Amino acid sequence: MPELPEVQTITSDLKKYFENSTIDDVKISGEYNVYPDRKFFLAHTKNVQISSINRIAKNIVFELENGYFMVFHLAMTGRLLIRALNQKPDKWTKITFTLKKNNKSVEVRFCDMRMFGKAVLYSKEELEKMKQKYGPEAHKGSIDAKEFAHRLNSKRTTIKNALLDQSIISGLGNIYATDSLFLARIHPETKTQNIDTKSAAKLLEAAKLILNEGIEHRGSTLEDAMYVDAFGKPGTHQNYFRIYGKKTCINCSGKVSVKKINGRGTYFCSFCQILLEGTKKPPVL
Ligand SMILES: [Zn+2]
Repeated sequence: MPELPEVQTITSDLKKYFENSTIDDVKISGEYNVYPDRKFFLAHTKNVQISSINRIAKNIVFELENGYFMVFHLAMTGRLLIRALNQKPDKWTKITFTLKKNNKSVEVRFCDMRMFGKAVLYSKEELEKMKQKYGPEAHKGSIDAKEFAHRLNSKRTTIKNALLDQSIISGLGNIYATDSLFLARIHPETKTQNIDTKSAAKLLEAAKLILNEGIEHRGSTLEDAMYVDAFGKPGTHQNYFRIYGKKTCINCSGKVSVKKINGRGTYFCSFCQILLEGTKKPPVL
């Protein structure tokens, strides 16, 4: 599933080539659903110039000169691919855009195998509303440890679940959250109430490092080869995982534990990662 580094890689590629280009044509395959509906989507994207391309959390946002925002969420298996005109069709293509810049035309294809992805056209107000759903981004230093600890303490869950909750902090998915917890030496099942400012600071620092490395390595492509960048190439961060997918801990050489936490495979080292306890000791009976 694309997480922040993967979405950032695709966004940067698209940004480089398509800001100030014009959408000459849009083709939606079969009965594929776009939002708010097909007619509205087509009417406001065809023959429109793209002013800017940016990322909000795990969304890729095309700002259009007509004041609308075309937003893609890749969910589990979505891809945005830059292709030459008439290049052989890609599997699972749902929308094909013909983009023109400096009299050269290329296609951008939105493909999605499992169809949990989404293409939506938002007004400025709707986009602002979407933005509100997301917490600050971990890798940008836009949240300090005190605020992060405060946000975590107000939840009643495990730290692993909390890191995946995009309203607390945005950008971390299963892989990068798993590796961040390992780097911060925090057990994934630590209760959020037991994260103090010092641990929150360690965790923020770890998340920042892991996410920025992921961006530098153009994302992670797992064995399913599902994630590719806008040119169809895999990322390389899978070669730099700290504990995700590992059998042996790189720190203590012990056996790595794997456990499903809220349905997501979580790797951790029970020797190196500490289950933080609250300051209140249980009563002695
Ligand atoms: Zn270890």
